Amino acid sequence: AYFNRVREWRGPGRTSDDYAVQLLANVGDGNAAGKAAAGESEGIGLFRTELAFLSAPEEPSVAEQAEIYRSVLEPYAGRGGRTHVVIRTLDAGSDKPLAFANFDAEANPALGVRGLRLAADNPGLLIHQLDAIAEARKGIDVDVWVMAPMVATVGEARSFAAKCRDRGLWPGVMVEVPAVALKAEQVLAEVEFFSIGTNDLTQYAMASDRLSSKLVDLNDPWQPAVLSLIQMAGHAGIKRHKPVGVCGEAAADPLLACVLAGLGITSLSMAATALPAVGVQLGDVTIEQCRQAAEAAVQAPDAVAAKARATALLKK
Ligand code: PEP
Ligand code: MG
Repeated sequence: AYFNRVREWRGPGRTSDDYAVQLLANVGDGNAAGKAAAGESEGIGLFRTELAFLSAPEEPSVAEQAEIYRSVLEPYAGRGGRTHVVIRTLDAGSDKPLAFANFDAEANPALGVRGLRLAADNPGLLIHQLDAIAEARKGIDVDVWVMAPMVATVGEARSFAAKCRDRGLWPGVMVEVPAVALKAEQVLAEVEFFSIGTNDLTQYAMASDRLSSKLVDLNDPWQPAVLSLIQMAGHAGIKRHKPVGVCGEAAADPLLACVLAGLGITSLSMAATALPAVGVQLGDVTIEQCRQAAEAAVQAPDAVAAKARATALLKK
């Protein structure tokens, strides 16, 4: 019966008492966007642009980039409502080095020059990309949001937002570095939205390499410390009336998705195939249950207890 419910689930994302949690797709190219748009997704919460250029020997031209970005926007054109597509600027470096962006060998690449940090030495890369996004959206009827990865300071958020606004683009930043969660209100004042990358936020909060198979217990978004950081970002969004989404793997865990909703998260973005199971679970609980589960999980002494306590409250 459960599998039938998952197969037959139709969006949008809602709790049983009709509290909206927007369910979005993570994609890496136009093909994936086309598939996600044919399914139940309400838009795209994360287009990882660096994936389109993993094999590019040189920086693609603005026109070449615009064509790729357009292919991700077009499947959602004309839908109206709250539909939007979030394009992330290059998150090159560390686990995703690009031949035309990452030149230096680094001792600790996860803590090195990656994501928005590349723009300090190589501002052209970011400028060309924003120009290409501005070009791509011309004539396509869909809200385009643009966000930067690996932001750590208020100043970085401010400078990124200014470059976006100069081009008429709607700016946001990812919450991946704990510093941004700790200063969530000040950072969010600079931009229009947050998107929490729980993969990196967990890695940096727990000081545990996300690629290490020996550290999976630490590298768990159910860790109460990680949930507290998410809560800080969620509270900033509630206070400033700005959307705060999650686009890391945590969003695809149906019970954790309910906890995230209870922490004030307004959208969840994941692989399109994961959306129905999350949608079914959200539809089985009230937002008050989500809030109680969230509070219990944040207060728990460890990740195992957080999950057990939340599960008991969500399954009752
Ligand atoms: C994340 O860090 O959670 C995220 C969504 O970005 P990526 O997995 O691409 O680093
Ligand atoms: Mg990340």
